[in-house]
Amino acid sequence: MKHRIVVLGAGYAGANAAGRLARRLHPGDVEITVVNADPDFVERVRMHQLAAGQQLARRPLAGLFADTGVALRIARVRSVDADRKLVAVRDEHGVDLEIAYDTLVYALGSTAADNGVPGVAEYAHTVTDPATALRLRDRLAGLDRGAAVLVVGGGLTGIEAATEIAETRPDLAVTIAARTGVGDRLSEKARRHLNSVFDRLGVAVRPHTEIARIDSTTATTTDDRVVPAAVTVWTAGFAVHPIAAATTVTVDPTGRIMVDRTMRSISHPDVYAVGDAALADGPGTEPLRMSCASGIPMAWQAADSIAARLTGRRVPRVPIFYAAQCISLGRRDALIQFVTPDDRATNFLLKGRHAARYKELICRGAASITAHPAAAAPIGHHRRLSDPTPEILTAAS
Ligand SMILES: Cc1cc2nc3c(=O)[nH]c(=O)nc-3n(C[C@H](O)[C@H](O)[C@H](O)COP(=O)(O)OP(=O)(O)OC[C@H]3O[C@@H](n4cnc5c(N)ncnc54)[C@H](O)[C@@H]3O)c2cc1C
Repeated sequence: MKHRIVVLGAGYAGANAAGRLARRLHPGDVEITVVNADPDFVERVRMHQLAAGQQLARRPLAGLFADTGVALRIARVRSVDADRKLVAVRDEHGVDLEIAYDTLVYALGSTAADNGVPGVAEYAHTVTDPATALRLRDRLAGLDRGAAVLVVGGGLTGIEAATEIAETRPDLAVTIAARTGVGDRLSEKARRHLNSVFDRLGVAVRPHTEIARIDSTTATTTDDRVVPAAVTVWTAGFAVHPIAAATTVTVDPTGRIMVDRTMRSISHPDVYAVGDAALADGPGTEPLRMSCASGIPMAWQAADSIAARLTGRRVPRVPIFYAAQCISLGRRDALIQFVTPDDRATNFLLKGRHAARYKELICRGAASITAHPAAAAPIGHHRRLSDPTPEILTAAS
């Protein structure tokens, strides 16, 4: 019987993990199945563009995995039983099924956090997935000239959303508010450029503004100031799906699966987790940041770890470190903040049109790597489970 590897989620992390596994392992030995709710690969890094009215190319997963040997199941994961090694899913026809696995790769990504702030779940918009981004697009389209749009969150997603909306709809009054500063992990030079772009686009900046509640037309701060908001876009962090936390797999308090350096669960050796859904040590003192910059190499590491363990080889180390934070500021400007390997801002930076082109290349690159998850490898290069090298005897992992 073939070894059954089931990958949950086909975002940047899951698709790359599945493709790399297909490249590493012989199809005669393993059965690789990817389960994803959506039939298309979603470029989440472009959701603010979708919300601002741009068309995004469709990337059907069926095409992505064609000829790779990876089986695709369009279904929504409902729960995982990590002790019985079963995944409960509801397929596209509404039928409930169970999928058994020998090795699981959990890559269900993340969604928007509401941070427990009253009114966010009911009234706020997000840019986390196509459905929410399209809902925001429709709402923005219905706004009259001068209407107030409040973007909450001074991180990269908030900055990208505020600038994209302001560039597309200069008639709207866009404000970005953050509990601390806006872009405060950027270098001083980068923040100066950011502020000049906010000025050019007419985005009002409200740092040190904590939102206590929102309703359909306003947001109220913790010190009782009322901020007009015909639309509130909530970008104050990501949260993970509650599926992992409902299993016996060890998760951190936010529900991310805790993994070791090989992306293997610290509690369940047959479970791996990658991307936003996993909590892994970073190259410095902080865990890996939720980003595709982390998710793709995490996926490669998980695939290589699984392949090595199944074929009795030593687990290789995929280097995981950062080089830059690439932030779009509308379509004509961007900031490429070069960082240290452990993600701290340096004084090196690219800005303006060149940076916008660079950012576009990075987005296309990430999508292209993901869209060719099993870039041709001759079948003879696949490792056989039945053909372990002598390293099987020495593999400590
Ligand atoms: C607007 C925006 C801009 C961003 N910009 C950047 C950037 O510039 N650089 C960067 O590095 N990161 C950026 N990010 C973050 C980045 O998009 C995420 O960190 C990345 O998508 C995580 O990859 P993932 O594969 O873990 O999860 P995802 O990309 O979220 O993929 C998860 C997959 O799981 C599927 N899924 C979820 N739940 C279920 C279920 N129950 N059943 C079946 N399938 C399910 C989803 O359909 C999806 O295909 C941005 C995010 C946003 C929202």
